[in-house]
Amino acid sequence: MLRKQLLEINEIHRTLERLTTPAYQTMLQQCIHCGMCLQACPTYHVFGTEMDSPRGRIVFLQAAANGAIDQDGLSLLTTHLDRCLGCRACEPACPSNVQYGRLLEEARIALQQQQTPGLAERFVRWIGLDLLLPHRQRLKRLAWLCWFYQICRLQSLVRASGWLPEPLNAMEQILPPIIPRYRRDGQRAPALGTYRGRVGFFAGCVQEAFLAPVNEASIRVLQRNGFEVVEPSAQTCCGAAHIHLGAEAQAQELARRNIDAFTAQPVDAIVTNAGGCGLMLKEYAHLLKDDPVYAQKAAALVARTYDIHAFLAEHLYVPPTGRLTARVAYVDSCHLRHGQRVIQQPRSLLRLIPGVELVDLHYPDRCCGSAGVYNITQIATARTILDAKMDDIRQTNATMIATSNTGCHLQLIAGSRQSGLALPVHHVVEVLEQSYQQG
Ligand code: SF4
Ligand code: SF4
Repeated sequence: MLRKQLLEINEIHRTLERLTTPAYQTMLQQCIHCGMCLQACPTYHVFGTEMDSPRGRIVFLQAAANGAIDQDGLSLLTTHLDRCLGCRACEPACPSNVQYGRLLEEARIALQQQQTPGLAERFVRWIGLDLLLPHRQRLKRLAWLCWFYQICRLQSLVRASGWLPEPLNAMEQILPPIIPRYRRDGQRAPALGTYRGRVGFFAGCVQEAFLAPVNEASIRVLQRNGFEVVEPSAQTCCGAAHIHLGAEAQAQELARRNIDAFTAQPVDAIVTNAGGCGLMLKEYAHLLKDDPVYAQKAAALVARTYDIHAFLAEHLYVPPTGRLTARVAYVDSCHLRHGQRVIQQPRSLLRLIPGVELVDLHYPDRCCGSAGVYNITQIATARTILDAKMDDIRQTNATMIATSNTGCHLQLIAGSRQSGLALPVHHVVEVLEQSYQQG
């Protein structure tokens, strides 16, 4: 019996070899177990258990890396890692600079390689990760279908009936009102006024298909500030969802396609308006560090990649002058705030708009519960976290919500409706563009 258990532990340790590399061990050992990160962690607040805190998860990972967990331990580790939002709120709270996001990413890849998912999970992963996300045109066709579903009022009937099973219902709940107004693929947008440079625009797969007005506003704002905007038609999904689900090889392939797409176009900068995609693009150098052909190209792409708020904070040559009367609650994207450390720039842009009163949340550093595919895979927890965010917004008496990432945008539209607040939700660049239009 004991021998069988030891063999099982050895086998698990062998298959988790990614967690045993010196680099990973060094990252793990950086944790001094001080617990300073606990109060920053949304899942610790929901579950109140050590194993759902960053410190607890790190201790569990150390046990796995040291070959000290059996099959039951492995299942438990998977459960607690699945409950992690990957929001990285624990990173800025950590005095020891633990790179928790990277620890989590590697662990998810290792677990994915170690497990054989069931037929249903494989089917759902195939639909999402293979069939849809890497294909921008297919996503747009799907968005057209969803638009039709909305305008023929089927959506109202479905929502009223409540018969959709989870997780389909969770997906339906975050479907935004769709405006299927798409630019011609690869279309160039000329600079307006004084020419300042040429930027490559990263469209984002879901953003482009389901929140088309955000991209339209982003391009208009860049144009108004003197930038010619090109959108390479060969670009694809950034691969963030793939990495969240441990599908490393697919994420690497998407990264190579994006690098090729943006290298083929001479641009001064690559700009993205989605905090999650931006962070993923900036991780390409790490993702492809062992690729002899793409490692350098990835580093070059990372050096030229900017979040749109950070870019505009330095290159806003034409101030917005149109008056908007709005009390705006800005909701940080975790991947923008904790991952890219872009915190003040979106707020500064909003403060420039005449008539906009920016109001602070009590907990601006807490996730909204979107977190990639978290609101579809961990439905109840995501809902609890979203409710807390909506309560925080309610207390500001805001008349508008502004945000800076696709997933947060979808989640907040759903939260605004479900909480009864019924506030409009806009990306920061949409608010800027509204001001320009009225100026
Ligand atoms: S990434 Fe977010 S949910 Fe996960 S441990 Fe860190 S703070 Fe908690
Ligand atoms: S704050 Fe950093 S060092 Fe302290 S327990 Fe959390 S991850 Fe470990």
